[in-house]
Amino acid sequence: MKLSKSKYCDAVQCNKMLWLKENRPDIKFEVSSQSILDNGVEVGLLAKDLFLEHEDVAFHGDLKVMVEDTKKLLRKENVVVTEASFVYEENFCSVDIFVKKGKQVEVYEVKSATELKDVFLDDLSYQVYVLSNLGYSIKKACIVYINKNYVRRGELQLKELFIIEDVTKSVFDRQTQVKENLLKIKQYMSISKEPESVLDNHCVQPYPCPFFEYCTRNLPEKNIFKIRGMRNSTKFKFYQQGIYAYEDLLKQNISPRYRKQMEFELFHLVPSIQKDAIQTFLNTLSYPLYFLDFETFQQAIPKYDGIRPYMQIPFQYSLHYIVGENQKLEHKEFLAEAGVDPRRSLAEALVRDIPENVCVLAYNMSFEKSVIKNLASLFPDLEKPLMNIYEHIKDLMIPFYNQDYYTEEMHGSYSIKYVLPALFPNDPSLNYHHLEMVHNGSEAMSVYANLENLKEEEQKIVRENLLKYCELDTYAMVKIWEKLKEVTKSYQTIQ
Ligand code: SF4
Repeated sequence: MKLSKSKYCDAVQCNKMLWLKENRPDIKFEVSSQSILDNGVEVGLLAKDLFLEHEDVAFHGDLKVMVEDTKKLLRKENVVVTEASFVYEENFCSVDIFVKKGKQVEVYEVKSATELKDVFLDDLSYQVYVLSNLGYSIKKACIVYINKNYVRRGELQLKELFIIEDVTKSVFDRQTQVKENLLKIKQYMSISKEPESVLDNHCVQPYPCPFFEYCTRNLPEKNIFKIRGMRNSTKFKFYQQGIYAYEDLLKQNISPRYRKQMEFELFHLVPSIQKDAIQTFLNTLSYPLYFLDFETFQQAIPKYDGIRPYMQIPFQYSLHYIVGENQKLEHKEFLAEAGVDPRRSLAEALVRDIPENVCVLAYNMSFEKSVIKNLASLFPDLEKPLMNIYEHIKDLMIPFYNQDYYTEEMHGSYSIKYVLPALFPNDPSLNYHHLEMVHNGSEAMSVYANLENLKEEEQKIVRENLLKYCELDTYAMVKIWEKLKEVTKSYQTIQ
């Protein structure tokens, strides 16, 4: 097996992860979204422009061709080569940016992340190991990553957008470690029978392992890894002591919140409904009542003025509202045009759609509030009405966060994605799986980001699906609110 920088990093995280990837193609897995984000293609392409003139080694299925192409380009005395490819023994690597200045070399590894991570140093240390063993004299080794504080004003300023961190000393300090790791990886990969899994923090750090479900498949169904909110380090500590079944965990000194989840699921307890607390929450609401939900997307490389990398950019909202008791449920919505900065038109529509001083419900309001606050600081002329909305937002999540309403099916979560099916298990109109194309916030984010690249007809279909998805979000909130009203009338308080 030829090792690459990503395979090396996989094995440094957990040898078995690489073993499974190489030997069990039958196990389907998804790469973690954080890992995809860290290695963003768009950012990689743009970072090349930090160096004015550069030659590219084209990607090729045959790595030998890439290595040969690199050799040809490196015949020049001074040159910048991107995706420069090398092989030493069984170790292959493509260097994002390879700068040759006479006999000395600088290497740059580009990441879409906004902070320097240890795994990036492993990645670069492996490349430096390969290059050093091929006789290159490395003068400088750097990680290039995104400056999260950069705000675009006019033309993109690459030197401000990217942070170039010199990590030469750190990667040279790791060279003995790389050598030892490579030896261990070679031994481990020669094992023919599937090795035992060693569940530990490495299953979630630096990236969630895609084989976690597979490696935990023999644990009892109700096990410690199903407990919501508990720290991973605590879970692995219990697991390593052989305490992982709910029955065993209940004998431990454990927080009441986790105990509650386990007891409900083990003993199928009836819903716990604190009628007085729910009523107190409902008393804080008043008509006309608005239900608001935003959809946002992010850009690693800001396209518009006033945007920071990965800032939440609102492009859509749904708004259900009821003006008074027993009045009809009404609906308004907004979805920005594709390919333009959506913030101004969204802010204008929002202040038009939500009257002054009305009660606005959001689910997990910190998100909606932060979006509105950002808009208010961006558009001073709309600050007053936007901050009026901000100040009147209440959080529908509170009764579930406080577990004033708790059922077995919530599985320790207060997220609407758990609360909704727990409260309405058989209502197809509230089932996100019945939607087409867009079933969750991340799908909404990615289809909207790609909208401008579609033909008119395709755009129309995507827009319809985005509207249906967002509408369901606020309709679900209305149903949850109605449910809270209903239970305060009809249920017994269970202490
Ligand atoms: S789940 Fe854990 S033990 Fe299994 S392969 Fe992944 S990191 Fe290794």
